[in-house]
Amino acid sequence: MRYRKIPSETIRRLPIYLRALMFSKDLGKERISSRDLAEFVGVNSWQIRKDFSYFGGFGTPGVGYNIEKLSVQIKRILKLDVVKRAALVGVGNLGSAVLAYPGFKMFGFNIAAAFDNNPKKIGRKINNIAIENISKISTLKKRGINIAIITVPRDAAQSTAEALLKAGVKGILNFSPCYITVPRKVKVITIDIAMDLARLPYYMPAC
Ligand code: NAD
Repeated sequence: MRYRKIPSETIRRLPIYLRALMFSKDLGKERISSRDLAEFVGVNSWQIRKDFSYFGGFGTPGVGYNIEKLSVQIKRILKLDVVKRAALVGVGNLGSAVLAYPGFKMFGFNIAAAFDNNPKKIGRKINNIAIENISKISTLKKRGINIAIITVPRDAAQSTAEALLKAGVKGILNFSPCYITVPRKVKVITIDIAMDLARLPYYMPAC
């Protein structure tokens, strides 16, 4: 099922709701009100109801949301209902930390391959994932991997993205601090902690 005209801000919040639902489930809860969910994620309850209304609304007024059902529906919307195999390119400081992070599993991501161009790193294992030579990147398609994470230095990001596209990748999470040019059918999301930090002082009270 395809949902139309959904604001990207709503899509950005869905994983936040999903994580809160999973935590609530772990606490043994079966239902959650929009008010409790709002408190959990720091979003207004009207905003949550509005976000869910794009998909026809999920709750019954006064009864709250069934956590299991809502999680399944959000996963389906985000296309997280099947395990996604991902690759990582650039196993340095950040890449190693990303490979070791257990939090991707919660959303059904399995980092199944890692590549680097440093011969000294090839064959080493992090979190049971063997680092492969970047020349093997062309094997991604036949391994069923079409999502990739880029953690190479900035000057190697564009060429890495191009190699990934050639290998059939359709979605890239880019940690390199630069803009990557890709065809429209490919989605790139760039993350930069420094950019978030840079806007923090603006919101802080003057000393
Ligand atoms: P690093 O030097 O420790 O690691 C980079 C790795 O990429 C190395 O292992 C290197 O061998 C490999 N590499 C270089 N060119 C390659 C290529 N063409 N193909 C395959 N592998 C290649 O650097 P780091 O500290 O891990 O940072 C990695 C990237 O992440 C940098 O671009 C950095 O600016 C960025 N970064 C982003 C954030 C963020 O918040 N988004 C935070 C920290 C670092």
